[in-house]
Amino acid sequence: MPRPLSATIHTAALANNLAVVRKSAPKSKIWAVVKANAYGHGLARAFPGLRATDGFGLLDLEEAAKLRELGWAGPILLLEGFFRPTDIDVIDRYSLTTVVHCDEQMRMLEMARLSKPVNIQLKMNSGMNRLGYTPEKYRAAWERARAAAGIGQITLMTHFADADTPRGIGEQMETFERGAQGIAGARSLANSAATLWHPASHFDWVRPGIVLYGASPSGVATALDGVGLQPAMTLASEIIATQHVAEGQTVGYGSTYSARKSMRVGVVACGYADGYPRVAPEGTPVIVDGVRTRVVGRVSMDMLTVDLTPVQNAGVGTRVELWGAHLPIDDVAQACGTIGYELMCAVAPRVPVRAE
Ligand SMILES: *Cc1c(COP(=O)(O)O)cnc(C)c1O
Repeated sequence: MPRPLSATIHTAALANNLAVVRKSAPKSKIWAVVKANAYGHGLARAFPGLRATDGFGLLDLEEAAKLRELGWAGPILLLEGFFRPTDIDVIDRYSLTTVVHCDEQMRMLEMARLSKPVNIQLKMNSGMNRLGYTPEKYRAAWERARAAAGIGQITLMTHFADADTPRGIGEQMETFERGAQGIAGARSLANSAATLWHPASHFDWVRPGIVLYGASPSGVATALDGVGLQPAMTLASEIIATQHVAEGQTVGYGSTYSARKSMRVGVVACGYADGYPRVAPEGTPVIVDGVRTRVVGRVSMDMLTVDLTPVQNAGVGTRVELWGAHLPIDDVAQACGTIGYELMCAVAPRVPVRAE
């Protein structure tokens, strides 16, 4: 028997979330972002739920090839562009669209031998200071791209640092418009947060990632109240042992938890080697037999321990939901000082995943 831990991918939730995006940005086409193995959901498992998209955005050439093998004939966008001249052979073979964010990439494209022109998204650094041409150099880059025989359609692109924070996107939008002034062409700006909360940024293409998986761009589950998204992954396990712990006794490595009164503790088959964060503090939410309770004691490699006080009937074999349909991944992430993105991407290869 395998361990009772598994992740379930909810295909209908992915399709629902894509429809929510469609409704939020009705005039835009959608790049469904499936980088990092579809945010840990598995590219092949996520694909059926997301195939009503207009295009897929990702980083890895291997993932792009896999999408083609799955039968996806539509646009695929390389969100970081490419790294070596040989990558361009793959771009050409699979008809990929690529970001171009620097002169080194531009030069590689100019030198490449291609069977047909490559469509690009020309990236502007509008304030994030990660990738892209500065607004001052943007027009020259656009003219250079336009003159390159190997470059086809040019979409104007940038990425927001604060679409999910009070700072918002105003400054970056202004910077973008200044740099792109007078340049015709489709525009691609909005990530999930901008797709939900900043309609002025929608333009021709939106690039949502996290909302497709039913989690919050801001890391706060209540930010999604009323939006209609559904969690696309449930990570669930079972209790494999219980312990009666007397007042003053401790639980787990480092004896970090000390029972304030006599209690029962459940041992769950899920640990940090499965991707559950070791930093999860006492009180991190977890659902046992449908009841919300909390992690007590330190998360170890293969197990974690939970307070069974509110679930008197729980015993070996009782179902435990670590996050998912009944417990927002954002609530778990928040307790751990991170965001849902990190948790879903970190589900370990040893966890069996199935789609339903
Ligand atoms: C990851 C990524 C996105 C999607 O971001 P979310 O916050 O998950 O919506 C969009 N655009 C680019 C360039 C990205 O790298």
